[in-house]
Amino acid sequence: MTPYENVFHSWRVTDSMRAYRMAQWATPPRTEEVAVPPPGPGQALVRVAGCGLCRSDLGMWRLPRSAGERLGWAMPFTLGHEAAGWIAALGAGLTGFAEGDAVALAASASCGTCWQCVRGQDNCCPRGLAGRGYGRDGGLADYVLVEDRRGLLKLGTLDPRHAGPLTDAGATAYHAVRRATGRVHPGGTAVVIGAGGLGAFAVQFLRVLTGAKVVAVDTNPERLDYARSVGAHECVAEPTVEHLRAVVGARGADAVFDFVGTDATIAAGVASVRAGGAFALIGSAGGRLDRAWFGSLPRDGEVYTFQGSTVADAQEVIALAGAGLIRNDVEEFPFSQTDDAYARLAAGTLNGRAVIVLSDS
Ligand SMILES: [Zn+2]
Ligand SMILES: [Zn+2]
Repeated sequence: MTPYENVFHSWRVTDSMRAYRMAQWATPPRTEEVAVPPPGPGQALVRVAGCGLCRSDLGMWRLPRSAGERLGWAMPFTLGHEAAGWIAALGAGLTGFAEGDAVALAASASCGTCWQCVRGQDNCCPRGLAGRGYGRDGGLADYVLVEDRRGLLKLGTLDPRHAGPLTDAGATAYHAVRRATGRVHPGGTAVVIGAGGLGAFAVQFLRVLTGAKVVAVDTNPERLDYARSVGAHECVAEPTVEHLRAVVGARGADAVFDFVGTDATIAAGVASVRAGGAFALIGSAGGRLDRAWFGSLPRDGEVYTFQGSTVADAQEVIALAGAGLIRNDVEEFPFSQTDDAYARLAAGTLNGRAVIVLSDS
């Protein structure tokens, strides 16, 4: 990532802005002109530099109307939960930040005061069910409101046009890897199934945080090439038990991270984990784990499902990127091509995470 020079900003906050919005369930989003919200006490208005696109956005607008309505979210709202930019205006009483500061916005919502948050498990906060870009106005707009300082992550010299994916794709992969690092040892093997946006981050975190051999598994040869370029020691083209056992050997994998989540990847992944190892299901393809009983799960092992990420995860991923220890390769699109970028995401033809660039400075 190229260092960003935080120079003087000559822009002024406008009255209205472009926003890419969900107007109703089971209907594609559309671009609208909306008013720029003024920051209230303790809030900040951020001028968006870039906003990453996430597969969960696609899932949201394809939800059947009845399922969407059960969420109880007010419509319309602006999409985008991987945003970064510059502070444009500070509400009364918000200290520690200055106008022009480069910031990323925490992707998941949390209150900071409930018992889950106090324990550092803010990824499990009940308030996280509706967040910025999923139930409230998000970052696919020229400006976005941040409710409190918990949502603001300082970027230092990182480029805010590209940093948004660190807070979601990066932080989610980081959370999954961090949970299992105590079971991953030098001489062992860690397997990443699905080397797309999240999986490629997981390969890098495993290289930075562990001494294990890292194996990437993907049916797409370009993704495997990329995984190798960011540190995978070995690549496997077929997510089957036979192919995985061939690379993890008789010991079995210390950990398997499944970023796909079909019946086949779950079965192959669980069968490859050693006794005392870990299997993490992050992918949302809807697969099932059959016969979860003695003999089919790793003895004394850990099996866990998607867990999102915490504010601390996002901070640490930003720190790793700032230190040059991980790469965050993105494919840029102008705001006018947001529909096309989502279509590429749906078709699986992106090179890196798609980022909508809203402003260059
Ligand atoms: Zn997401
Ligand atoms: Zn909370």
